[in-house]
Amino acid sequence: MITWEAWELLKAKAVDRLPPQMAEMANKSTNPFVQAITDVSSPKAVYMSDKVVLVGDALAGFRPHTVASTSQAAFDVMCLVDWLDGKTDRKEFISSVMQYSRLIQSRGIYIGNRSQFETLDINDYIEDRNLMSTLRKDLVYPEWTKRGLDSM
Ligand SMILES: Cc1cc2nc3c(=O)[nH]c(=O)nc-3n(C[C@H](O)[C@H](O)[C@H](O)COP(=O)(O)OP(=O)(O)OC[C@H]3O[C@@H](n4cnc5c(N)ncnc54)[C@H](O)[C@@H]3O)c2cc1C
Repeated sequence: MITWEAWELLKAKAVDRLPPQMAEMANKSTNPFVQAITDVSSPKAVYMSDKVVLVGDALAGFRPHTVASTSQAAFDVMCLVDWLDGKTDRKEFISSVMQYSRLIQSRGIYIGNRSQFETLDINDYIEDRNLMSTLRKDLVYPEWTKRGLDSM
């Protein structure tokens, strides 16, 4: 639970910062709670001689505004099934899920910080939104997302 003072402050901020529909929802809420958002990311996707495989939220928690967490969970599982079915191999599984999680998590932090702590032109926010809407097949993975994968 949050204090009454904090709740009043949040309601005022909602009116100040949010679209009217969301500000109305915030003001009509009777039982507010705080949800901590963390940037948790596992350094590896496989452990214990591959007996433990991390997918979805267990591999990396994305910030909500990425709207990509369920997509990650589905993608990771599809990659895992392909590996188990012999359509791909261990190396491909690891690089697919690790690069995706690293890239999307870092983008979530990047656009989150820009919208939360910077005042930008509206077009920058639209650009950020479009960045998060990039189709997975069109993603280009920077070199840093590949770091250390060969030794996992
Ligand atoms: C309020 C809220 C809103 C969200 N909105 C969105 C959204 O709009 N879009 C989006 O993409 N994502 C959203 N997410 C995130 C999304 O729900 C998760 O990223 C997604 O469900 C992760 O899937 P997962 O399979 O990795 O983990 P989970 O869905 O958490 O599945 C893990 C499963 O493991 C089970 N489990 C845990 N411990 C054990 C155990 N010891 N033994 C057996 N089973 C166990 C749990 O019961 C659970 O069923 C939202 C999450 C929350 C909480």
